[in-house]
This record gives sequence, structure tokens and C-alpha cells, in this order.
Amino acid sequence: MSGKSRTKTYDAVLSSNTRYSETFGDKGKLPLPPARHFAILTCMDARLDPAKYAGLAEGDAHVIRNAGGRASDDAIRSLVISHKLLGTNEWFVIHHTNCGMELFSDQVIGDLLEDNLETAEFDGKSWSNPKHGGGSVAGHFVHWHTIANAEKSVADDVRRIRNHPLVPRHIPIFGFIYDVKTGRLNEVARASEAGRPN
Ligand SMILES: [Zn+2]
Repeated sequence: MSGKSRTKTYDAVLSSNTRYSETFGDKGKLPLPPARHFAILTCMDARLDPAKYAGLAEGDAHVIRNAGGRASDDAIRSLVISHKLLGTNEWFVIHHTNCGMELFSDQVIGDLLEDNLETAEFDGKSWSNPKHGGGSVAGHFVHWHTIANAEKSVADDVRRIRNHPLVPRHIPIFGFIYDVKTGRLNEVARASEAGRPN
């Protein structure tokens, strides 16, 4: 990248990476398949660090992240590859408290995007655009996988994965909600029940 288009973040990321690579040690010898044979599907929320909350080191497990940690077609694509080609045989679906996906609906984000593409503002109750114009109706054609209730979303997603024709029945799928206030993983019984091998 040219010097002109560099940002503070760009510089910070690269200097952190220099330090990381200096102490990389023998991690270059890690095999491609995850050593601990499991995968986690979780939310992209910046407060969640799966390596820390689940005790992962490089090479241990697959972590698939998207907005909400939802079992979208693309998340299932990754899980199927994770098992079929890379040998994972236990999966965890981990949603969390205070998820941003609870704060809007398909209609709300569709309307916001139709008006304007810049970052919207949230006043604790509703969203609004500080700028107007230049939006697109394309947002109305996206399924955003919003969440009304975290326990339900975990159970729905575990069930969706369990019933997918490309997912073998012997893989246990566990459902959890991570508490952003305490760092604890709380199991959702009906989700893990739905994810039992059969
Ligand atoms: Zn989230």
C-alpha cells in the first residue's frame, strides 16, 4: 500500500504484527487441521475473544465468526469444510448477551441503508441517519439474521445445523450464551439437547 493511504490503524496493526512474528517460535510447524478437533461458531462482537474465553492457542480449533454467530449458509459451509476436510468432530454455537443483532430488524436496517450508507446513530431506543442521500434499496433484499431472543437464536441455529443434510448425525453440537458482563459461558439446555448426536 502507498504511504499516502496509510492510516494510524494500519501502522498500529503492522507494528503489532512485527512484534508477534518476532516471537512466533515453532508455530510455523503447526499442522493445518485443528489439533483439538473442534469448531466454534460465534459472534464478531469485539468484546468476545474466543481464544481467551475458550482457552485456544494457535492451531487448536476453528473459529467461525459473523454478525450474531448465526448459522447462515456461509457459516454452515465453513462447518462442513471443518469436519469433512479438516476433521473437527464437536461444534459449539456461542451467542451472547447484549448482542447488537437484537437492536434492529430487517426493516430497520433496510430503511436506514435505503436512505444513506454512512454509520447510523443509536440513541438507546432507535436508529437514525446523521446524513441523508446516496443510499440503496439493496439492503431490503438481504436476510440480516437479526436476533429477538438469544436463547431462541442459539437453539434455532443448533437445530438448523443439526438438520442440515451435509452435517453428519454423530457430531455433537453444543449451544451457549456468553455473558459479556462476566465472561462466563452459560449452556442453553434446549440448544445442546437439539444438538445431541442421533
Ligand atoms: Zn453479537
